[in-house]
Amino acid sequence: MKLLTCKETTRLVSQGLDRELEFGERVALRVHFAICLGCRRAGRQMAFLRRAVRALSEPRQQGS
Ligand SMILES: [Zn+2]
Repeated sequence: MKLLTCKETTRLVSQGLDRELEFGERVALRVHFAICLGCRRAGRQMAFLRRAVRALSEPRQQGS
């Protein structure tokens, strides 16, 4: 299995907000999160910020 660097992890997390990650990518992310607290925190923060921005830019909820 391929181990991600922190840089690759950050990039994958960011891509994961825009597209469906492949199974191997999700596994690699989980493995990295398991060993790296910094990326776990950063990933959570990124997802939160993205949701907040989306909520502000789309006042009308469509579906979901
Ligand atoms: Zn990391």
